[in-house]
Amino acid sequence: MRGWRRTGVSAPSNITAHTRVVGVIGHPVRHSLSPVIHNAGFRSTSADYVYVAFDVAPGKADAALEAVRTFDIAGLSVTMPHKSDVARAVDRLVPSAERLDSVNTVEVGEDGALIGHSTDGDGLVSSLEHNDVSVSGQDIVVLGAGGAARSVIDAFIRRGSRSITVVNRTLESARRTEKWDPARVRALEATDDDVRHAVKGSRIVVNATSIGMGLSPRAEISPSDLPVDINWLNPEQIIVDLVYHPIDTPLLRSARAARCKVVDGLGMLVHQAALQQKIWTGLFPDVDEMTRAAVRALR
Ligand code: NAP
Repeated sequence: MRGWRRTGVSAPSNITAHTRVVGVIGHPVRHSLSPVIHNAGFRSTSADYVYVAFDVAPGKADAALEAVRTFDIAGLSVTMPHKSDVARAVDRLVPSAERLDSVNTVEVGEDGALIGHSTDGDGLVSSLEHNDVSVSGQDIVVLGAGGAARSVIDAFIRRGSRSITVVNRTLESARRTEKWDPARVRALEATDDDVRHAVKGSRIVVNATSIGMGLSPRAEISPSDLPVDINWLNPEQIIVDLVYHPIDTPLLRSARAARCKVVDGLGMLVHQAALQQKIWTGLFPDVDEMTRAAVRALR
């Protein structure tokens, strides 16, 4: 992904032999906002940690975990294409990471064991709570059934949402989430007539497809830039976009014009990172500082 600047980057002056290293493994990884977000978080808690990006070739997740042990790295974030490989390679998984077969966070336990977590879904729930939105007892439509969708569906189930309708272009991927809780999760193909009823009857609509990604926030909006028919939305609804580049997506702009409450995807990115820092350091960082750093980098 292009579009954010490296200007203003300077070498931290307070790194010593005590400073702990954490980082993200991914490929490609040089576009990642995570170092900017995390280092702002560590500054906010004065935690003596530094966060860097490691470009790890596909298939090399095992070697990266071995490096964590060798270099006494204090924890990892994990992004594409390593999330499933890391889930298979760590010593233990927390239940949600096990269900998702996906790890975005590696914790080094007190016994030295590597523990796999998935903070994406809880990151979205925290971001919604930060915006005074609770998912408990709500009827929710999730558009998409890829990795991001699966993590938020898992979190909505755990946080007591009343129903979750998963709408996807490819029905088969959506169906796989139904078995997690057949009483509450229903899969629909994007072209199904029932999608309109589900969207109209829901309190929260979450775009977890990549539609809208990379589009200019100033460009004219065409229906193909939107994951849902905007005429189905009403002002009682909360519209959430997981896409964070641009921050103000065509969906959010259209939903705001329809007088819906909107929540952007940067909040999820920042809150899942804050949950990672809590796992690594025991300290919860200042999410507003982290958000400001991310916005500056994206500008
Ligand atoms: P993914 O696993 O590749 O899934 C992509 C999803 O989008 C699938 O459901 C796919 O449908 C659907 N899709 C893609 N193009 C489409 C189109 N033209 N029409 C209809 N559906 C389409 O990707 P992901 O990791 O889940 O990421 C999805 C989005 O969430 C990305 O924009 C990503 O940047 C964002 N994200 C945000 C955060 C955050 O912290 N805010 C975290 C993770 C991801 P099919 O199954 O039919 O292919």
